[in-house]
Amino acid sequence: MKTETRLIRTQVERSDNKEHSVPLYMTSSYVFDDADHMAALFNDEEEGYIYSRYSNPNISEFVQKVADLERTETGWATASGMAAIFSVFGAFLESGDEILSSRSVFGSTHKLFTEILPKWGIKTTYVDFDDVDNWADSINKRTKILYLETPTNPGVDIIDLAKVGVITKQNGLLYVVDNCFATPINQKPADFGADLVIHSATKYFDGQGRTMGGIILGSEEHILKIQGFARHTGPALSPFNAWTLSKSLETLALRVERHNDNALEIAKRLEKHEAVEWVKYPFLASHPQYEIAKSQMKGGGGIVTFEVKGGLEKGKSFLNSLKMLSLTANLGDSRSIATHPASTTHSKLTEEDRMKVGISPGLIRISAGLEHLEDIWADIEQALS
Ligand SMILES: *Cc1c(COP(=O)(O)O)cnc(C)c1O
Repeated sequence: MKTETRLIRTQVERSDNKEHSVPLYMTSSYVFDDADHMAALFNDEEEGYIYSRYSNPNISEFVQKVADLERTETGWATASGMAAIFSVFGAFLESGDEILSSRSVFGSTHKLFTEILPKWGIKTTYVDFDDVDNWADSINKRTKILYLETPTNPGVDIIDLAKVGVITKQNGLLYVVDNCFATPINQKPADFGADLVIHSATKYFDGQGRTMGGIILGSEEHILKIQGFARHTGPALSPFNAWTLSKSLETLALRVERHNDNALEIAKRLEKHEAVEWVKYPFLASHPQYEIAKSQMKGGGGIVTFEVKGGLEKGKSFLNSLKMLSLTANLGDSRSIATHPASTTHSKLTEEDRMKVGISPGLIRISAGLEHLEDIWADIEQALS
């Protein structure tokens, strides 16, 4: 079956009630048949559900669907994207280990690298997205993980996934990709050698701004290590959120196609608008890594960044003039969203660090939603004028 069909038809189990739509298993624990059954489950001699911090049928369904999408053996679901990211480091790193990471990472991931992981003696070295050919020079004996996001947030810069796959293989590093911005509909990092793929399910997987969630995808062997860490530290996804997310995945392919189409058309129109200084979108021919984007992505994604002529002041007045687009901290939602990264998600960085990751003072990030293109554009256009 094709992706679109599998997202709808994958069902882990059906109860004796023969329900058509998968029910919600809102239970914290499961009953054992007898003392031997209980012992067998606890000692991994038999498969089955024990306790919802370990797993739950709604979580299994969610994991199975996303692992299928990302073409990995299996996965582990978490309460949020950050819980997924932290679980990877918690499971794989020891004091003294080092991470090599692309400089442009999600704000909270940056905090993890610079303030939280150093408490346990784990150091992160940043490298630049446009310097992949020299990344190997920054690897040393202590480097264990290579971490990146592409397209980057909010600059939508593109990193060559296949090239990094060669570097990680040659140096025996765990290759970890946060694939949240692209979604597996547009890009499958495991095809380029990534060992672990991470998502904030809060974004496109839910797609309607309702739940938090996260997931890590990879081989049975790698996910077993994540399981060993996560089962006992408790970043579990709630059954309710897993159920919501599994339902949302049924429409993921359809939604991402529309996000892609709306974003590309908005980017093209912005590029022609006289009040716009510059615009960046992976599938615009003017994007500096357009060829790489085309070679590793099926669609350009839902995020467009641009700068209004007149810098910060005009950028703020653009945001304040929007009537329909939401000013909110989410992305990947059915509702179009506009944000100003320099004063919000990336305000903790110094101006110099912001410029290093391409966040100019007037940069505006649009998450193209699923409203009719002409309504989104009408709002952007009136705010520009
Ligand atoms: C939102 C986001 C995260 C964090 O996910 P939460 O679900 O908010 O914890 C991580 N990476 C990227 C790229 C994100 O956009």
